[in-house]
Amino acid sequence: MTLIELTEFLDEELGLSKFPGDESSNGLQIEGRADIRKVGIAVDACAHVFNSAAKKNIDLLFVHHGIIWGGLKNIRGVIKSRIKTLLESDISLYACHLPLDQHPEYGNNSQLLNLLSIKKIGEFGEYHGKRIGCWGKTAREMSLADFVSRIDGTLGTETSSISFGRKVRNVGVVSGGGWFAINEAEKYGIDTFLTGEPSHSAYTLAEEMKVNLLFAGHYATETPGVKAVGELLRKKFGLDIEFIDHPTGL
Ligand SMILES: [Zn+2]
Repeated sequence: MTLIELTEFLDEELGLSKFPGDESSNGLQIEGRADIRKVGIAVDACAHVFNSAAKKNIDLLFVHHGIIWGGLKNIRGVIKSRIKTLLESDISLYACHLPLDQHPEYGNNSQLLNLLSIKKIGEFGEYHGKRIGCWGKTAREMSLADFVSRIDGTLGTETSSISFGRKVRNVGVVSGGGWFAINEAEKYGIDTFLTGEPSHSAYTLAEEMKVNLLFAGHYATETPGVKAVGELLRKKFGLDIEFIDHPTGL
């Protein structure tokens, strides 16, 4: 298919126009060759991913964290080398940030709920005027230790957990740096809150609301969305899809 067809499909399917306030310049950030056969998917736009993409003859890279944030100021240093790799290899870069956290089907948070067998009840975690996270219920009440084993077994993580004494039943999930959503935990009756990166600020709020805190890693909680979009493109268009894994451990 052509680059134009693919980008028009993704823009529409992922609802980019609903997120005008996202700092990420979502959509096609760098234009490469006109025909697309092979799509690389990755979490971060960085040299490691770009160099792998060039070796694997990828036509378009789909990432969660793109390369243009808050407008283009200059093309120097690390940014220059990254862009040079893509331009020399004629690879397109497509980024999808908040729309891919929030998306009800392919989004990181909906995907995390599915993967962890949590039945989705609703959305929460307001950010830039949109509720980007999800919350839901486990099939039955379980211990925090058992729930952490489920996360680690599913995502291949080493989740750090802070227990405030509650059993796990109502779980809120906001991928990546979503700690701010702890502020809404009480409102939705959430007993356990899962996000990516640890935050000092979350501790006392969670302590006072008696909400267990789980940090499974920014990277690990943001791989499900890009993988889901890869699956969609494979099934719908028969494109060759390759996940370029570059875990940060953070
Ligand atoms: Zn992120």
